[in-house]
Amino acid sequence: TAATTTHEFQAETKKLLDIVINSLYTERDVFIRELISNAADALEKYRHESLTHSEEELFDAHVPLEITIDLDEKKNQLTITDTGIGMTKDDLLANLGTIAHSGSNTFLTQLAEAARQDVSLIGQFGVGFYSAFMAGATVRVRSRSWDGSEGHEWVSDGTGTYTVSECQGLHRGTKVIVELKEGCEDYAKKWKVESVIKQYSSFVPFPIKLEGETLNTVQALWARSRSEITDEEYVEFYKFVANAVDEPMLRLHFSTDAPLAINALLFVPKENLEIMGFGKMSPGVNLYCQRILIDQHSENILPEWLRFLKGVIDSEDLPLNISRQALQDNALVAKIRRVISKRFLKFLEDEAKKDEAAYLEFWKTFGIYLKEGVTSDFEYRTELGKLMRFETSKSEAGTPVSLSDYLLRMHPDQKEIYYINGPNREAIEAGPYIEMFRKKDVELIYTMEPIDDFVLSYLGEFDGKKLVSADKADLSLGDDDTPPSESDEKAETPLDDKAAGDLVSWLKETLKEQVAEVSISKRLVDAPALIVNPDGFMTSSMERIMAAGKF
Ligand code: ADP
Ligand code: MG
Repeated sequence: TAATTTHEFQAETKKLLDIVINSLYTERDVFIRELISNAADALEKYRHESLTHSEEELFDAHVPLEITIDLDEKKNQLTITDTGIGMTKDDLLANLGTIAHSGSNTFLTQLAEAARQDVSLIGQFGVGFYSAFMAGATVRVRSRSWDGSEGHEWVSDGTGTYTVSECQGLHRGTKVIVELKEGCEDYAKKWKVESVIKQYSSFVPFPIKLEGETLNTVQALWARSRSEITDEEYVEFYKFVANAVDEPMLRLHFSTDAPLAINALLFVPKENLEIMGFGKMSPGVNLYCQRILIDQHSENILPEWLRFLKGVIDSEDLPLNISRQALQDNALVAKIRRVISKRFLKFLEDEAKKDEAAYLEFWKTFGIYLKEGVTSDFEYRTELGKLMRFETSKSEAGTPVSLSDYLLRMHPDQKEIYYINGPNREAIEAGPYIEMFRKKDVELIYTMEPIDDFVLSYLGEFDGKKLVSADKADLSLGDDDTPPSESDEKAETPLDDKAAGDLVSWLKETLKEQVAEVSISKRLVDAPALIVNPDGFMTSSMERIMAAGKF
């Protein structure tokens, strides 16, 4: 027999396996979903290769594309077989021994610390395979690649090491044999496995056969007409594409015929795992052409800042045999990206018009991505500007308002929109910058997140009105000959020109190069002095962030 080699799991993988093996009994069903989802992915990948290669280049080209599940109660074992792309020896070592995906490390840390270890999220972090050890005492993976090279068997009990050896006579694809642990006998029983599959896998686009019976009807939900789809079906589909356990917060299903034929079904999840500390998420939308998967978790079909969306985009205008490489600079892909991004932003605008409170829920959870869009993508500034929400001197604390709301309240002769940065409302309202605004009853936007000043400076203007930071040096709020108010009259006599000039020279000499300029201000009301920003390009808050290297 051929040599068997033994390999050690990477340290992170060991940690993960330890958590998985000790996971709660009630979460175990998840492993079937994860293995079926890998089988479906492998079949999609093979289908794509078969479209871009000639039949002679494909090993076992005649084998039908399907997933088969075999149960053996006597041996206490469950086997999931797919006729997908398969794995070479190198693939086995790389894919089933290490954790390559970014984000999974943070997932691990969080899992290890959480009181209730929510292992059901596992699939969203690109480590779903290891869930096999939730139910398996030993897991065997026999696989043969579509390139026809010799097949191999990978075996492990999940504690530290795994072995790999050559395995002859395999068909194309992968067979995962789960030798069930004590207490997991149900997974060798038809009623149990059937109920798990029905619950989790109804949208798998390949036949799933359990003991000769096909369990699912293969259908592309997004290609059906909206009026025929129930809310339950949408939610089920969301769980399938997003590998999620929750329900979506928002959903957009639309199709266009001209100038491009597009069918899109997009979901906003309920939770933002990225701000929960799970690290940067990979994109969640899959690109299809005529219901055939071309690019899973596509980096190209939407801008990066829309990575929180989950779902499917299908366009029959794309060439079926386009390679993943060619997607990157394909003009058609860029066009589809633009159409869908604008459509989605319009959808958000409509949602906000229908129900501002519900939109604010979205904004609280996902607004940060829209802000990222403003600072990284020039193309959508107008649309994104309408979706921004900030607290202002006239908003209630905790209830941000739109820039359009600001415009409605603007004085007829006010030409600019003003904003000022600070850590919170109290600090801003205690500062000297806002005195003049308060006196003249001019609304001031409070930017309280580090990124906010960048966002407003990238936006530049809104509806033809310039966005201006209140810490700018040459700021003037229109005419300065407003009649003196009562408090002004009570004020002490101002310094005469000579005394004021002397004070300025003294300050310049004393502060030397610590300041660029000292000048007499007309905007102060009660405070004796304030520090302003000479060049007016970066606000002081932006300079602080740049200096700290945080942006
Ligand atoms: P993910 O599916 O999110 O990539 P997994 O931990 O589920 O993460 O799987 C890791 C990798 O192992 C997959 O990306 C794939 O390359 C490989 N793999 C797992 N199962 C199969 C299979 N049935 N056929 C081919 N490759 C597989
Ligand atoms: Mg997987």
